[in-house]
Amino acid sequence: MQAKLIDGKALAAQVKAEAAAETAALKKQGITPCLAVILVGEDPASQVYVRGKARDCGECGIESRVIRLPESTTQQELLALVGQLAADRAVNGILVQLPLPGHIDEKAVIDAIPPEKDVDGFSPVNVGRMQVGEPCYLPCTPAGCVRMIESTGVDIDGKHAVVIGRSNIVGKPAAILLLEKNATVTICHSHTKNLQEICRSADILVAAVGRQGFVTGDMVKPGAVVIDVGINRGPDGKLHGDVDFDAAVDKAAYITPVPGGVGPMTRAMLMKNTVQAAARQNGLA
Ligand code: NDP
Repeated sequence: MQAKLIDGKALAAQVKAEAAAETAALKKQGITPCLAVILVGEDPASQVYVRGKARDCGECGIESRVIRLPESTTQQELLALVGQLAADRAVNGILVQLPLPGHIDEKAVIDAIPPEKDVDGFSPVNVGRMQVGEPCYLPCTPAGCVRMIESTGVDIDGKHAVVIGRSNIVGKPAAILLLEKNATVTICHSHTKNLQEICRSADILVAAVGRQGFVTGDMVKPGAVVIDVGINRGPDGKLHGDVDFDAAVDKAAYITPVPGGVGPMTRAMLMKNTVQAAARQNGLA
């Protein structure tokens, strides 16, 4: 069986079109959603991501403010800027591009973003709200994964979902969101025993490991939905996922490509969160 591709680019275009329509409706009420993105330093990958986010904002009619700071920026200076943006009523979402230079405490900076402007969904308040099923900003990558699974028409309810990885930004929240959708969830990590066997029993397999080709074809249950979150720069200089795509594509029913899968969806979900933030801050949601 050849798996059907879950086209992240096409689905992201759909999500961004939704965000654009919601933005247009807000603008009619005199509200222009605005996302502030702070980039500290010259990391080339971060620069690409930040440019992409500004472009996405443009496509959706969202105002974007990109603030570029030198590598030498102190933690105090960065916290002061976050404080200014937090107090600025015209700014609905604040995103600090990670990683930050080593001399800055990332946690302190994330914690300084008020929960109502934390459109990345990384702050402890948003994480807690997600955990108890209260309104919050869902972290973009896991929310994008769930949307991709739902796009297949496969019912998540009652399925065995296996998430490989337990990071705070991908693995753990992906597991929580799948649990929320009534999947039976197993989280695997570097201490997991019988990982291959567990994966083979997954109706839904989410790989967020950060190792090229970690998921081999024999770890995929025939007919599974495979979501590959990994982004790894291979020895060939190209981007690869965590899943051995060529092997898994013959086993799975649905699979995401890398690139063109979870990445574009992550960006699109950020636009949705920003529009939602603008609506909520103006008492409209
Ligand atoms: P982390 O490095 O924070 O987490 C990796 C997880 O994988 C850890 O929980 C770790 O386990 C687990 N792991 C590592 N090695 C093994 C192993 N041999 N067996 C089992 N588990 C293992 O990564 P992130 O969650 O931040 O990201 C994961 C991948 O997703 C990366 O490639 C990243 O680039 C990509 N990514 C993609 C995004 C997108 O938009 N497409 C967004 C964010 C990330 P343990 O906890 O025990 O150490």
